[in-house]
Amino acid sequence: MKNKFIIGIDLGGTSLKTALFDARLKLISRKSFNTKSFDNKEKLVAGIVKSIEALAEEKGLSWRGIAGIGIGLPGPVDNLRGIVRFLPNIRGWKNVRLKNILENKFSFPVFLDNDAKLMALAEHALGRAKGANNALCVTLGTGVGGALILEGKLFRGKDNAAGEIGHLPINVDGPFCNCGGKACLEAYIGNARIALRARKLFGRRITLEELSGLAARKNKLAIALWQEVGSQLGVALSGMVNLLNLDSIVIGGGVANAGGMLFSRVKKTIKERAMSVQAKRVRVLKAALGSDAGVIGAAVLVKERLGYAI
Ligand SMILES: [Zn+2]
Repeated sequence: MKNKFIIGIDLGGTSLKTALFDARLKLISRKSFNTKSFDNKEKLVAGIVKSIEALAEEKGLSWRGIAGIGIGLPGPVDNLRGIVRFLPNIRGWKNVRLKNILENKFSFPVFLDNDAKLMALAEHALGRAKGANNALCVTLGTGVGGALILEGKLFRGKDNAAGEIGHLPINVDGPFCNCGGKACLEAYIGNARIALRARKLFGRRITLEELSGLAARKNKLAIALWQEVGSQLGVALSGMVNLLNLDSIVIGGGVANAGGMLFSRVKKTIKERAMSVQAKRVRVLKAALGSDAGVIGAAVLVKERLGYAI
């Protein structure tokens, strides 16, 4: 392992990111491909293979020089059998045995996991959750993802589906959610829902960047909307804090860039709504690894699964 390399892959809605790491998780090289050109199963698998080959070729690496590959994907992943149940926007993608397909092409092991879990592994190994024993990592984007580190380890649950803070109901009744549920946190503060709320408020289409810009320039409507988003997130997190006595909550993803206003409202809500011992203990932090968290987490997964110390 010492002289071998690891490849980390992060498959997102807009890009397929591939990065080469050394055994100490130092990022050596990276590539990014537009996901839009992979709109069906065959094209996506071919795209992943090509991205691996391109990275190895560029560095003159033989397959024997690679210890393994980790891949992070959105949605439910059977991490032990390496099956990806479903991918949004990819035609014909149902219960694909991606691990088997890639291991038959290459001579190294391939490991898969859900992208939010890999973000948590990355933040716990190298980022803001480093040293935390009990942490919840939240990603705010198109979806609201989450993963738990409990007693120093990623907590997977029976079906590798634990940590879905985005699908924690925050009301008895409320808007329907993409998961089929109702009044889930994501149905209030997912990207699209915030944009919809902003559109109603301003009477025109408005991007989240614009909404953050308006709030920074003290626009009252924009500030009120971000504060409401912060309160809703804070209420959900207060429940988690009470339940798990967390020492850290790490928040990342595009919406986290709304800045201090969102964070201060989340902290205020937890202080008001969570029980005092738990509320005093928890720190709410902005994720440190940004858009690299996915590829780093994928590399951490490889080390973890191969049994090497991180
Ligand atoms: Zn839901």
